[in-house]
Amino acid sequence: MSTLIIHHDDCLRHDPGPRHPEQVRRLAAVMGGLKSLRGLEYLPAPLAGREQLDRVHDTRYQAWLDEMEPVEGRVPLNEADTLVNAGSVAASARGAGGLCFAIEQLLAGNAPNAFVATRPPGHHSGTDFSMGFCLYNNVAVGARHAQSSDGIERVAVLDFDVHHGNGTQQIFENDPSVLFISSHQMPLYPGSGHPEETGVGNILNLPLAPGSDSASFRASWSRKALPALAAFAPDLVLISAGFDGHQRDPLGQLQLLDADFEWITREIMAVADDCADGRVASILEGGYDLEGLATATRAHVAALQAAT
Ligand SMILES: [Zn+2]
Repeated sequence: MSTLIIHHDDCLRHDPGPRHPEQVRRLAAVMGGLKSLRGLEYLPAPLAGREQLDRVHDTRYQAWLDEMEPVEGRVPLNEADTLVNAGSVAASARGAGGLCFAIEQLLAGNAPNAFVATRPPGHHSGTDFSMGFCLYNNVAVGARHAQSSDGIERVAVLDFDVHHGNGTQQIFENDPSVLFISSHQMPLYPGSGHPEETGVGNILNLPLAPGSDSASFRASWSRKALPALAAFAPDLVLISAGFDGHQRDPLGQLQLLDADFEWITREIMAVADDCADGRVASILEGGYDLEGLATATRAHVAALQAAT
């Protein structure tokens, strides 16, 4: 069986502007990076349905997003650099829907693991707020969708984006059935993600100092995150795969290499093999240097594919 790649051209319609780091060309970079990997299966991402979005997002927030989307031009939401244009909400709904679809494929036994190559990212969005380029929180919608399926009770969400996944944390901080682990640079936007933020014992934040390299990243995951993941023993693992911790990235100061993204993916797969039948679905979050994004994504997906 092959690793699934879920994508959709609607994700090219979301365009926050020519000088915005979350640019349309990111997706071409990702898909270009995957081209050299053989044996991947590509499928289109469906739109998330109302029932899927309602499990995470307030209906008033969803209606507000729809109302804010202009026919022409672009409009800032609650932050100057989180913008929508015609097609943005559908692009985001492809991410959330794509992850739900990927999870359905894994649970049906049609694929061992999957990577959802969509944009905009999602992990800064909460139940009723947009933030940090994010509209719907894709990974949270995926986690709730999985939990509505037979046999999936405990879900782990692992986030190695350079920024703290504050929206995901807000959504799950009172829910012991979801483990959320985030490693991120601190200090950095959005400013949250301190180790003292532990939810109901289900949140693990691993801040990394600016300039941190492979050694500190791997030590953090090896000593704390991976043992916590194994102890939680989830039925399914979801990854918020941000590649802006790459040393080339302009938005963060971590010094991660492609090999680190391959390493963390392999380590996660090893734990998932033990407790979750290897079921791992990953979705793109950040990553703003086009070359670094392409090579790091390829390293990540190659490690998923190697586990099949
Ligand atoms: Zn990020």
